[in-house]
Amino acid sequence: MKTIKHVGVIGAGTMGRGIVEVMARQEIDVYLYDQDRSAVERAFVHIQNQLDKQVYRTKISEQQKMKMLASIHPVDQLHAFHTCDLIIEAIMEEMSVKQQLFKALEKVVSTSCILATNTSSLSVTEIASVMQNPKRMLALHFFNPAPKMPLVEVVVGVHTDQNVAEEMKTWLKQTLLKEPVMVRDAPGFIVNRVARPFHTEAYRMVASGETSKTQVDNILQDAGFKMGPFQLQDLIGIDINYAASMSVYESFNHEPRLRPHPNQQKMLQSGLLGRKTKKGHYHYE
Ligand code: NAD
Repeated sequence: MKTIKHVGVIGAGTMGRGIVEVMARQEIDVYLYDQDRSAVERAFVHIQNQLDKQVYRTKISEQQKMKMLASIHPVDQLHAFHTCDLIIEAIMEEMSVKQQLFKALEKVVSTSCILATNTSSLSVTEIASVMQNPKRMLALHFFNPAPKMPLVEVVVGVHTDQNVAEEMKTWLKQTLLKEPVMVRDAPGFIVNRVARPFHTEAYRMVASGETSKTQVDNILQDAGFKMGPFQLQDLIGIDINYAASMSVYESFNHEPRLRPHPNQQKMLQSGLLGRKTKKGHYHYE
């Protein structure tokens, strides 16, 4: 198995900070970059708070917490990733921005460095199409919140070297104690594809006056779901979930059954993005 000593994470938002925490908990050296420096600072404080809770619940000791925090290295330029064995990108869900980033990364990382995207729904093959060596590129799709959710979809693009994917799967299982599943590079992969009607039908039912958001969420919880669709969208981020909906819709040539609901876009345009803006379907303090 390839030795992964240094990991780079790009994007310090909802997913980036969670992925960094996953690495830190295994005391893997992790370098965190975001174009917004304040996002890196917020991510560090968030992880510190999460680990404080672990100490309070006697899951880890204060000394372990300090070691975990010491393994996180905020960096302010991509060049700092030149020693990384693996880089996971968790920036905005936009094809051209991701492609630009991977092109830039190839210029600074070693030839053996594995490059991964945490995209929810974009084609890994298309992201990698601009790279000089697309064989080392794949998606490692962590779920939110990354420290708690065991599943990671390992998405193999057309050009991905199968050995790289196998190595990543073994590492995720053995070192990060995750449940990796190898999936094809299809729109929305598996989870986000199946989740599309879960979100869209909920919007449709509420818009037609058949029910309310709280009723949908409460009923789904009573039925055994951890969260209803509106609670989940606030956790994911309305912007990220909308981008996933659009990406799947466009990949299927605008099939009507996959069309995002107009209210999804309205919320995005109003800046009601969910927990990250403290306002979405619900209000948060
Ligand atoms: P987010 O909006 O919370 O954070 C994105 C971060 O990326 C921001 O801090 C932003 O400043 C930074 N960023 C944007 N462009 C950048 C660039 N060019 N270079 C460096 N930093 C940049 O987003 P998120 O929810 O963490 O999602 C990140 C990725 O993970 C997306 O591809 C998304 O589809 C995927 N994802 C999200 C979830 C979820 O539940 N939110 C789950 C799985 C996967």
